[in-house]
Amino acid sequence: MIANSLLENDKAHWIHPVASWRDHEARGATILRSGKGTYLTDIDGHELLDGFAGLWCVNVGYGQDSIVAAATEQMSRLPYATGYFHFGSEPAIELATKLAQRAPGDLDHVFFSLGGSDAVDSVVRFIRYYYNITGRPQKKHMIALERGYHGSSSTGSGLTGLPAFHAGFDVPTPVQHHISCPYPYRFEGDDAALIASSVAELKAKVEELGAENVAAFFCEPVVGSGGVIVPPKGWLSAMQAACRELDILFCIDEVITGFGRTGPLFACEHEGLTPDFMTTAKGLTSGYAPMGALFMSDRIYRTIADATPPGVSIGHGMTYSGHPVSAAIGLEVLRLYEEGGLLANGVASGAHLAKGLEALRDHPLVGDVRSQGLLAGVELVTDKVAKTRPTAQMKLPQHLADIGYRNGVVFRAFGDGIVGFAPPLCITTDEVDLMLERFRKSLDELLTIKEIRDAV
Ligand code: PMP
Repeated sequence: MIANSLLENDKAHWIHPVASWRDHEARGATILRSGKGTYLTDIDGHELLDGFAGLWCVNVGYGQDSIVAAATEQMSRLPYATGYFHFGSEPAIELATKLAQRAPGDLDHVFFSLGGSDAVDSVVRFIRYYYNITGRPQKKHMIALERGYHGSSSTGSGLTGLPAFHAGFDVPTPVQHHISCPYPYRFEGDDAALIASSVAELKAKVEELGAENVAAFFCEPVVGSGGVIVPPKGWLSAMQAACRELDILFCIDEVITGFGRTGPLFACEHEGLTPDFMTTAKGLTSGYAPMGALFMSDRIYRTIADATPPGVSIGHGMTYSGHPVSAAIGLEVLRLYEEGGLLANGVASGAHLAKGLEALRDHPLVGDVRSQGLLAGVELVTDKVAKTRPTAQMKLPQHLADIGYRNGVVFRAFGDGIVGFAPPLCITTDEVDLMLERFRKSLDELLTIKEIRDAV
């Protein structure tokens, strides 16, 4: 009864993010009620193994009491303090300090946002400001990857390289451009050739636009929402070197990969990268409260600070930048990653996941598996030799998500037949096995659907 009225009220009033409104009206919401560790329970008491950590964010897992205690303590002592007008709060200062100490290179300065999209937007704003104030105002063009995701705000959605986020929204803007995503499974050639082809494409695009007009290149260390595509080792370093050579800023979006998702605290650490800007969110607070953080290099910070006269405010900020409750949560989350052993557990369970994924290759629908740490993708195809993607008419992702749910596992089924896994870092190796067992069972059940079985 309660569930029924919730379902009706939801349909009547809540506009859901990134949803087909018509489908939502037809099928209604899946209402979740509680979580503990790696498990979720829905409103009907159905238990689910969360192979996607909410939306690749609940890295510490659900029900961490020490986070609840840290939030409660901060909320009752001081629920809000602005960062405007030179005010601050203890947790925001402490968190900025700890993050800067742990960040790569000279990324010593942190600006807090509410999530990933406005972290990316803030980087774009600061880049514009940087070039305008240093006398290079024509440097406006920005380049990102096809299939990349950088948020759904009015600016970030244009850097995003996914058509579904462009259609009907008048983006990309004329200063936003894309080059091919490094996609080993669908590239004809070895890793070295793929790296060389990306570098050549970036250089060609910069030449076409004129280096004096190009501000920055944005990429994720592992393309996330575009299908969990892991570039070859050395790709990121090569792109960083190309950016330096071309005199454009190198911006890494670690909104998904940050905070242990791929093993180390930041994916930049795999290749010792030193980006000019790095964006983070999600795992920063593990989804226990909204918060994002962008990291700015000391070189850029100093240049902006020195070029702006004293008394002139740099007009960018949000009411909740550096929110003290989110910051208190972020501090405890950071402690759990390092002192609480979650990073180490993530590395061990990630290695176990990689092995388990390899064993899926024999399934008739599995074309490719790839992973880095606890971030994994399985690419489903109807013809393994031709690498044929399932057609939209098969509705494979929708069927798979529904079957998975019935089998007690949550993962992300992307539109083109790619499945994403990003379980909490607290996942045990037994739970990894269970997640993959339920996934394989779900793949087998997909083959009972006539349109899919006939196509394979
Ligand atoms: N960048 C990346 C790489 C992301 O994956 C996301 C969110 N999935 C964003 C930016 C946007 O973050 P948010 O949804 O918190 O605005």
